Amino acid sequence: MNTQFPIVGSDEKSPANGPMIDPFARAITYLRVSVTDRCDFRCVYCMAEDMTFLPKRDLLTLEELERLCSIFIRKGVKKLRLTGGEPLVRRNVMHLIRNLGKHLETGALEELTLTTNGSQLGRFAEELYESGVRRVNVSLDTLDDKKFTEITRWGRLAQVMKGLEAAQKAGLAVKINAVALKDVNEFEIPQMIEWAHGEGYDFTLIETMPLGEIDADRTDQYLPLSLVRQRLEQQYTLSDIPYKTGGPARYYSIAETGGRLGFITPMTHNFCESCNRVRLTCTGTLFMCLGQEDAADLRGALRESEDDQHVAQAIDDAIARKPKGHDFVIGRNSAPSVSRHMSMTGG
Ligand code: SAM
Ligand code: SF4
Repeated sequence: MNTQFPIVGSDEKSPANGPMIDPFARAITYLRVSVTDRCDFRCVYCMAEDMTFLPKRDLLTLEELERLCSIFIRKGVKKLRLTGGEPLVRRNVMHLIRNLGKHLETGALEELTLTTNGSQLGRFAEELYESGVRRVNVSLDTLDDKKFTEITRWGRLAQVMKGLEAAQKAGLAVKINAVALKDVNEFEIPQMIEWAHGEGYDFTLIETMPLGEIDADRTDQYLPLSLVRQRLEQQYTLSDIPYKTGGPARYYSIAETGGRLGFITPMTHNFCESCNRVRLTCTGTLFMCLGQEDAADLRGALRESEDDQHVAQAIDDAIARKPKGHDFVIGRNSAPSVSRHMSMTGG
């Protein structure tokens, strides 16, 4: 046990399968799992076009991922989000999702969801619903075919649109996440909001974060959401609403569309004080904060022993090191604050 910080609300002698409370008294109830670092898109803000991916031997097997997730669920995780890379391109990922869905049936888990680029929803939407998934976040930054290809490099908008249709048909609630990109989708945002709300989707805007080396300069992409909001307020009536999804978004309702608009603002507003989550990569590395380098290797603990208590203890040791918050800066020519890509830790 790391004794550098006081463990508030947790007894040092408590069994390793007790709840996860970090040094700042935040209960960890939300786990995001990147099931693969691979993707069928190459979004300009996320990846370089010639990304080098992890060798397959470094990945946890689906069985190992399931074991690890189940330990986290026993330790109080109520919400589990699968992400990536693109989670739905991992071979046999539905096997993992179906098994994780069983924790919903027992009530141990309250929500199983995923963040996806939507390209594979046409194939999987129905099975996702059958596995207990009820909501998905679909990342979509533009409705313009040409821009879509410019942003995603390898993606096809029509395929994502088909995926969205399939999700709707299957009964999945959809939230559209769009990264606000200067000059790229900056002036399309009102149109996207109206489209999303017209389809019955929530819509959330995200600020670009300095994660990993990419081919472009991030100051060319960064658009502060405070500015976007000011502009939207000239056109729409935004009211603060207490809606919460367990994530960091702040929500507003728009009177004119009747829909919900979320803002995720890691750059202009530090939301760390209410952080309830940790992130697990497909290699079993646990990141206690998206914006910090410190991490714990759970793969070692997982493979050393069949005893889940051993892994649970490694998790407790990691949670005891969860930092207070992140410290992102985007400056011209500045190196990324964090060297790993979003596709490694997951969004
Ligand atoms: N492939 C899936 C997708 O695109 O939804 C899941 C993984 S992706 C890394 C998760 C989210 O992170 C996406 O909404 C994406 O737009 C966002 N993202 C990627 N790189 C980012 C960055 N540098 N800053 C802000 N958001 C980023
Ligand atoms: Fe792939 Fe998602 Fe990154 Fe785009 S944002 S490259 S879809 S992981």
